Amino acid sequence: MSTHRQSIKALGEGLRARKFSSRELTQQYLQRIEALDPQLNSYISVTAEQALAQADAADARLARGEGGPLTGIPLAQKDIFCTQGVKTSCGSKMLDNFVAPYDATIVGKLHADAGMVMLGKCNMDEFAMGSSNETSWYGPVKNPWDTTRVPGGSSGGSVAAVAAGLAPAATATDTGGSIRQPAALTNLTGIKPTYGRVSRYGMIAFASSLDQAGVVARSAEDAAYVLQAMSGFDPLDSTSIDRPVDDLVAGLGQSIKGLRIGLPREYFAEGLADAVRSRVMDAVKVLEAQGAVISEISLPNSPLSVPTYYVVAPAEASSNLARYDGVRYGHRAADAKNLEDLYKRSRAEGFGPEVQRRIMVGTYVLSHGYYDAYYLKAQKVRKLIYDDFRRAFESVDLVLGPTTTDVAFALGAKTDDPVSMYLNDIYTIAANLAGIPALSLSCGFVDGLPVGLQLMGNYFDEARLLNAAHQYQQATDWHMQAPKGFE
Ligand code: GLN
Repeated sequence: MSTHRQSIKALGEGLRARKFSSRELTQQYLQRIEALDPQLNSYISVTAEQALAQADAADARLARGEGGPLTGIPLAQKDIFCTQGVKTSCGSKMLDNFVAPYDATIVGKLHADAGMVMLGKCNMDEFAMGSSNETSWYGPVKNPWDTTRVPGGSSGGSVAAVAAGLAPAATATDTGGSIRQPAALTNLTGIKPTYGRVSRYGMIAFASSLDQAGVVARSAEDAAYVLQAMSGFDPLDSTSIDRPVDDLVAGLGQSIKGLRIGLPREYFAEGLADAVRSRVMDAVKVLEAQGAVISEISLPNSPLSVPTYYVVAPAEASSNLARYDGVRYGHRAADAKNLEDLYKRSRAEGFGPEVQRRIMVGTYVLSHGYYDAYYLKAQKVRKLIYDDFRRAFESVDLVLGPTTTDVAFALGAKTDDPVSMYLNDIYTIAANLAGIPALSLSCGFVDGLPVGLQLMGNYFDEARLLNAAHQYQQATDWHMQAPKGFE
């Protein structure tokens, strides 16, 4: 039984037809993780025993003729989501000893409600700060397409696991690109929904006005199944939006004839690798042949998105991370002389250098005398970026561009240069600042390394985004390719 390359839909059908059991499926993934993950480091925790218990419960549900399309299908969770009774580290030494006392809302929805089986918790950049998964306290994750290269970040463990067939799909989070950028670098489809569409309750906070959970999977169809089960109003999250969820799976299969797609000229300007530009333009031709109407547009303020983000995100992070004080939970320095010494040493020992840099930048831009010059200014530019999209969506249905400027880079190549690392997210950050949904899907390869195509949509247009990606994937087979050694 080689089910690890089957679609989520096919797995669900196989389970319901009792062609294989959830226990067999789960065991197969656990064996693959054991055999292959030492090369990748994509999991921080593998919860084998709990997974088999969940699989048995799913099999019992299926035997009673109950359960839905996801019941019994394995899934990996990014280690940013609280999982009751299971270590939830957020990639940090600070939380290495933290066992969550409750489940995040999406964990409850996916496992308790939908009946998916949790295989384990995926590696990630520390507190989701990074673009290469090299800031994790648990060591870097390797890209299965070339293990000398980064998988992208911060959801590097989630994408490496799915790309290597160590999970059918995984959850991920995106504050400035952490779903789309790593999906692009590993040949996956990753979607960040509209801000407020998926509950943030139990998702460890980085920058609360930007953080949004989503999914990485091999196809838009797979992503639609999982996102459907994650989405929806949650009274426990005050920014969750009370609005019915579209049927994302039923929304697939629509013709894209007449779909108006805008190409922002700023996304094809200097800085974009020629080979990436040419793969993206090939994809545009495919969509055009399917009936999409292509036009050039402008998002004039998008070049300001990186500097804006690197004021807003650290400001919010410095406030959110104040809770790690060595007193309530998390790392606590030994033999502290007094309370202040305890705070200082616990934080200095528990946080890595990138997290400390963000806390310092954030504290600075919020401090008296600098607040107006930096934080307030950044909020004003954020509004301009939002206005750009509002204007664009008056004339087009979707915005299309590359996800990243280039393919995956070598491990270590950018670790000493934070600014060049930050520039990785030049095409992804604007969607977070505006709160709109955005998706990345693979559109080909350069020298054996995947290239990502990004689609951005208007608020709550997840169904349209997924359908456009699905239509493209009906006409192409890039997304079906598997990395050598992990077939
Ligand atoms: N790479 C960006 C950062 O380091 C975005 C991270 C994210 O989306 N979580 O902040």
